[in-house]
Amino acid sequence: MSDCGIVVGRKVNGYAVHATDGLALWTYGAEEIAPDGTRHNLCRCDHDTREKAIACGIQRCTPELARMAFEAYGQSTGGKTWDGKDIPPFDVIRERTPHVARAWEAAVSAVRKAVGF
Ligand SMILES: [Zn+2]
Repeated sequence: MSDCGIVVGRKVNGYAVHATDGLALWTYGAEEIAPDGTRHNLCRCDHDTREKAIACGIQRCTPELARMAFEAYGQSTGGKTWDGKDIPPFDVIRERTPHVARAWEAAVSAVRKAVGF
């Protein structure tokens, strides 16, 4: 996450998202590094700045896709768990039951592998 001494990257729930070189000269993409060290390409848009590439990558990183999936689940059930309790916000899940947030991330990773994204 370092380039010429300048840190260019962000962390989302233990996943490091940082800029990578783009396909064209002076352009940038983004990748994530999971807590287990697995690397995954998030963006090959050829952004003109590292910051834009990271912002793009953040939207596609595994923890954010896990949040998106979790929130879609909640919307489809009217905000209720399988046994009728209120579903807490994802940030509360991450803080109080991190194993549940990790399970949603594992689900995202499985889908990614299946669809090749
Ligand atoms: Zn992009």
